Amino acid sequence: MKPTLYIYCFFLLVACADTPSKTVASEKELAAKVVALKPTTTKDTILMDSIQSPKIDFSLDYIMGKFDPKTHDDFIELSTKHASSKGMYLRKDTYEAFKKMDEAARKDGIKFVIRSATRPFNHQKRIWEGKWTGARLVDGKDLSKSTPKVIPRALRILEYSSMPSTSRHHWGTDFDINAFENSYFETGEGKKIYDWMLQHAASFGFCQPYTPKGDGGRPHGYNEEKWHWSYQPISKILTQQAKTKLKDSDIGGFQGAETAVSIGVVEKYVLGINPECLE
Ligand SMILES: [Zn+2]
Repeated sequence: MKPTLYIYCFFLLVACADTPSKTVASEKELAAKVVALKPTTTKDTILMDSIQSPKIDFSLDYIMGKFDPKTHDDFIELSTKHASSKGMYLRKDTYEAFKKMDEAARKDGIKFVIRSATRPFNHQKRIWEGKWTGARLVDGKDLSKSTPKVIPRALRILEYSSMPSTSRHHWGTDFDINAFENSYFETGEGKKIYDWMLQHAASFGFCQPYTPKGDGGRPHGYNEEKWHWSYQPISKILTQQAKTKLKDSDIGGFQGAETAVSIGVVEKYVLGINPECLE
């Protein structure tokens, strides 16, 4: 072999030998870029095939809201610049995307106020049992008296409120803005906000899970909620994993939970969302 060819081969070998460490470096770079998406609890692991489509394996406890967002490393407290009160939390990835959307909206004269964000199991249990026992009135009624039978009572609550374990508010990807009435979003300032969201929210990753029922392929689920928005890149994964991991028979630990199986809560409510949120 000619000396020049030896030199060429030598450099080729060095280059090849270097390849694995270059691969490791680029994986590290990729991992750094998705650090905000990486769950840190022992049960949640990340399997990533690209930055654009992270694959996060969420635990059943996470899906059911059985963790504390205050101490979970993927969550952050919202600034009162964006939220109506202190003590609200979202996933970091969701809040970053929200802040970008908020900045763009402010330039168009739109002001978002987050009224509710992550609600763990126990928070949802207080809401649900309040309505179940009549301590919290529903349209001015004590449901324990006006609707004593358990299935109709659960269905009445399910018009707008989730059973604990099945709420998208457990996930840190979903939040409510400005007002809890559809009518607010149908005139004046509210309409301006809603129209802006319809036009721009998708480009920041947000979708409206609860569109009008019977419309756009949504025959089941909660009533329309113009105030509830979801960070689709992550909530899509959570919805898919809820479909395979969460069973109606897993739902328990609160009054009225025995109705979950006969209602088919996972199929009708967890999966009864706007199909655009799953694209
Ligand atoms: Zn909501």
